[in-house]
Formats: sequence, C-alpha cells, structure tokens
Amino acid sequence: MKIAVLGAMPEEIKPLLEKLQTKKIKYANNTFYLTNYKNHEIIIAYSKIGKVNSSLSATIMIEKFKAEILLFTGVAGALDENLKIGDMFYAKSLVQHDVDLTAFGHPFGYISESEHFYFADKNLIKIAENTAKKLDIKLHSGIIASGDQFISDEDKKNWIKKEFNADVVEMEGASVACVCSSLNIPFFILRAISDEAGKKAEFDFEKFVIESAEKSAIFVLKMIENI
Ligand code: SAH
Repeated sequence: MKIAVLGAMPEEIKPLLEKLQTKKIKYANNTFYLTNYKNHEIIIAYSKIGKVNSSLSATIMIEKFKAEILLFTGVAGALDENLKIGDMFYAKSLVQHDVDLTAFGHPFGYISESEHFYFADKNLIKIAENTAKKLDIKLHSGIIASGDQFISDEDKKNWIKKEFNADVVEMEGASVACVCSSLNIPFFILRAISDEAGKKAEFDFEKFVIESAEKSAIFVLKMIENI
C-alpha cells in the first residue's frame, strides 16, 4: 500500500528521516521523501505550517504520489485540562475553528456544501488502538479544532473549547481531513501535546516540541507495522 506520512514542521518528520533511508523529490516548492517500509511504499513530507500549506501537500501526496491512505503526525495545544504535555491524542473528528460565516446564519466552522466536522477513518483508528495496546501506550481521542492561529490566550482557548466542544487545537488537521475526505482517502490525525494553548503557550511549545513530535512520529511508524 502507498502511505503518506505528513507533518507540518521539520521537527515532526525528522525522527522518521533519521530512521529511514529515503529518496528526495523536490516538487511545488517542497521536498517529498520516498521509501519502503514493511512492504509499504511511504511518502513523507512536512507541509509548512497552516491550513493552506497542509492542503497543498496532502493533495500532492494523493494526486501526484498516489498515496492510498494518509497519516498525519505532529504536536498540538491541549484545550481539555485532562490532557497533559506529552499525551498522545488522535482526532475522531475535526473542524475549522477560524471559519466565520455567522453573518449568513451559519454556525462557526460551517461552509455551505462542505462538511462541518470531518471524521477520521474507523479502520485506521482501530489499528492505532491495537498498536497502542501492544505498546502499552494510552491514546486519548476526541475533537480537533484547526485554524491559522497559534493559540496562546486563555479567552481564545476557552472560546474554541466551548464553541466546538474541542479537546485539542492545532493548525493543519481539519484542512488535511477536508482534502482526504473529498478525495476518498482514509486518514488518521495524531498529535502529541506540546503546550496547553493558554497564556505564554509558546514557551512550553518551544520547550517540548521536539520531544512531543518524536513521540508522535515514532508511534505512526509503529502503526504502519500493523497496516
Ligand atoms: N515555531 C514556529 C511556529 C509553530 S506554530 C515558527 O516559528 O514558525 C505551532 C505548530 O504546532 C503548528 O503546526 C500547529 O499545528 C501546532 N500547535 C502546537 N500548539 C499549538 C497551539 N497552541 N495553537 C495552534 N497550533 C499549535
């Protein structure tokens, strides 16, 4: 099977590139890394931050490199106070928190003729849960809210949490979900918590990004062994 493994930042795919021998292909102002792993062809890339960049990379991985499933690995801010830095979280569903067409009577995050919440693939979730059980790792799950903003503010954090009943905030998941859903590609979005998205979240982010990014990436590699 051809599997896309996408991150947003270099830190999020570095642990994979250190473990795997890859062939580099430059395309669309980005680099795509090709390799084989456990009978699968793997395409790895980091998209650069945000919904637009991640949509572009996901589309390229599917349309040009013919990925059949997509796994996203990265870090995120926790909205739910039960989630701690380093915890692993996957999305059951995802929404764009910065979409505002409320002037037309639509709820936040809603775009006509588009999905409001995107749902991750149930089979990939099952594989992730089985992988976690084997490794004795606890996986948390729930709703991811994505937007083109680094959230480091208590009011904004609480608004997103309440408005979307979201557990985690980041900047790429929902856009990747939108691409995959539109192109009928099963997807799974995994995040390790790097910060709590409140005041001065950028300090925790800087301190924990590498550690959390590695945790997520290594898990995705283990997951591939079970696909
Ligand atoms: N250090 C980078 C910016 C990182 S933005 C720079 O200087 O350019 C944060 C990245 O981690 C995004 O890819 C996002 O998906 C995720 N993330 C982690 N914590 C987040 C938070 N509190 N709010 C939004 N995104 C967060």
